[in-house]
Amino acid sequence: MKKFTKFIGLLLMGVFIMSGCGAESEDVAKTGSSDESGKETKTELVWGTNAEFPPYEYKEGGKVVGIDAEIVDAIAKKLNMESRVEDMNFDSIVASVQSGKIDIGVAGMTAREDRAKMVNFTIPYTTATQSIIVKEGSPIKSSDDLKGKTVGVQLGTTGADYVSGEIEGVTVENYNKGSEAVIALTQDKIDAVVIDNEPAKKFVEANQGLVVLEKPLTEEEYAIAVAKENTELLEKINTALSELKESGELQKIIDRYITAE
Ligand code: GLN
Repeated sequence: MKKFTKFIGLLLMGVFIMSGCGAESEDVAKTGSSDESGKETKTELVWGTNAEFPPYEYKEGGKVVGIDAEIVDAIAKKLNMESRVEDMNFDSIVASVQSGKIDIGVAGMTAREDRAKMVNFTIPYTTATQSIIVKEGSPIKSSDDLKGKTVGVQLGTTGADYVSGEIEGVTVENYNKGSEAVIALTQDKIDAVVIDNEPAKKFVEANQGLVVLEKPLTEEEYAIAVAKENTELLEKINTALSELKESGELQKIIDRYITAE
């Protein structure tokens, strides 16, 4: 669909250049075109996410909502584009940005060095850390106590890296979704879950008998992933994000989902 729209855009540009209206054609290609009825058809901004990561993205009545969804909508509005979401496994997002299946990856994604070799990251829009979830009354009180234990993580995440890289003699259990790791914990199949701090709080709220050890384990920044060659979109999103930061709109979105203690 995106490729098709691009193709139409290019076609229109060619027609305009040939008829000597090069300048106008640029606007058409960037901000969408008009159909025969004169109604504006906006260019799509397709974002990929894993909608199992509250409060950043989760489903409500079949719709993907959350902090990232609202940020994407605010950016799309500024770029005069229309957003559409593609829900997928977290560890498919970077490859889908690279292949052009999606325009951007917005998934509480940490701007990690190895990922930055494959995609570009925008300026960060928030910070995060990893937290430990355990059952109430668990002997695990800190990351030191994870030694030799079985810890559930979400496949391909910074939490998974942290546990396998920093904890001695640990057994790592990988799950596709954070919620699956949390269920395994409630069923005593694992001793703890390591996951991003805000989702950790939401999972604990939704499941009785669990607690989150709040001590931060890592320092991370969430950013939006854009294809390496798509530098124009990267710049536009960076401008939009800066504006959203300066106007306070970004903070307002975050505050709607995360209440400061
Ligand atoms: N912030 C973590 C990462 O980037 C987890 C993101 C997620 O699970 N959606 O790896």
